[in-house]
Amino acid sequence: MNGIEKEIDGLGRVVIPIEYRKRLGFELNSKVVISAENGMIQISPINKVCVLCGKRVEKGRKLPLCPKCVELIKSE
Ligand SMILES: [Zn+2]
Repeated sequence: MNGIEKEIDGLGRVVIPIEYRKRLGFELNSKVVISAENGMIQISPINKVCVLCGKRVEKGRKLPLCPKCVELIKSE
């Protein structure tokens, strides 16, 4: 099995591993979307993160890229 094994508590809660939270921008009190498909539960941050550096991207941006990375791409 791939991934980190966790236990569900009596209230149905699971701790999202810190490394995943950091990498994907799940910050304290941030909102998430939970969906179930193909026998899996997917938890996505509502605030998108930059696909290149993982920093939070403001809502409303068309591309999941932060301004810094956009500038970096433009300059290359
Ligand atoms: Zn970035």
